[in-house]
Amino acid sequence: MKESTYKNQPITMTRIHNWTKDKTKQLSYLRVMTQLLFLIVILYLSIIAVWKGLLVTLILGATLILGRVFCGWICPYGLYMDLVSLLRRKLKVPHWTLPEKLNRMLHKLRYMIVLVLLALVVLPFIVEGKSLIHLSEFLWLRGAFRPLTILLAPLETLVIPWIPPFGALLELGKVSLSYPYVGEIMAATGGTETGLLFAVVFVALTLIASFKVRRFWCRFCPTGVSIAAVNKYKRSRGVPLLRLNKSEEKCTRCGICKRVCPVQVTEVYDKKGGDVATSMCTLCLRCIEMCPYPDCLKLQFAGKTLFKSRNWLAA
Ligand code: SF4
Ligand code: SF4
Ligand code: SF4
Repeated sequence: MKESTYKNQPITMTRIHNWTKDKTKQLSYLRVMTQLLFLIVILYLSIIAVWKGLLVTLILGATLILGRVFCGWICPYGLYMDLVSLLRRKLKVPHWTLPEKLNRMLHKLRYMIVLVLLALVVLPFIVEGKSLIHLSEFLWLRGAFRPLTILLAPLETLVIPWIPPFGALLELGKVSLSYPYVGEIMAATGGTETGLLFAVVFVALTLIASFKVRRFWCRFCPTGVSIAAVNKYKRSRGVPLLRLNKSEEKCTRCGICKRVCPVQVTEVYDKKGGDVATSMCTLCLRCIEMCPYPDCLKLQFAGKTLFKSRNWLAA
């Protein structure tokens, strides 16, 4: 095994921490800016009441071409968790790393959530013997398709410019304060005080957990797992066109990619080379940003390199 060295010098923690002065941080800023931009777009889409079924289809469809870019670069809940992590880093509080086995187990268990959701949609049709083709119900995710609205819960904005029918965390004049899944919780509980209490506890617990565990909710999220399922299927079909490639020759097995991954993907480190993105990978590109070996990790679209690892240690 090769040593963790660069230009014959050991990679020390001091040198690793020097990354904050490096240009490679620009990608992290670009990611946050992109997430903020999409937050505005999503708020606009919710104001003009875009078809929810179409939105779910678009998100899953785009995954076939782009992989889990939605999770890494668009999802509002992902942005909230990233901002909480940013705050933790500013406060110099260390994060917790989940045991690898537990992380993998959670990843696999998440598929169960989606199966339950799908069962909730399909079973009424089987039991009542109806046709599944109800385009209007699907487009608005109403009637039998209602359980699928939970897939859009991570898109819930913190400020909503109206008062939802079942209430929100806080109502301030003509706007409300909300949080992902609060709308779902309030609707499921009929907007009762118990529902509000449950929503507040949910928000508090997930915020605390996200403070200590990076991208905490992404380990359970049914939306993420739906995207991941699409992502898993594609491996045998030559899609998506966006890929994370590793050069076996250039990797020194320094382990930085494993440490910086917010969802604890280990395959980028473990696999010898080639396409290393798995269904857990959100394509946030943090590993490419932080890998200090030029051309070792690359983001490629249809074989064309869009972004690659650079020698940030020499900066
Ligand atoms: S896993 Fe869920 S919460 Fe995380 S980024 Fe993807 S959709 Fe958003
Ligand atoms: S891919 Fe890059 S960061 Fe990861 S172990 Fe190899 S050299 Fe280190
Ligand atoms: S493997 Fe790399 S691109 Fe994928 S989630 Fe981890 S850091 Fe992000």
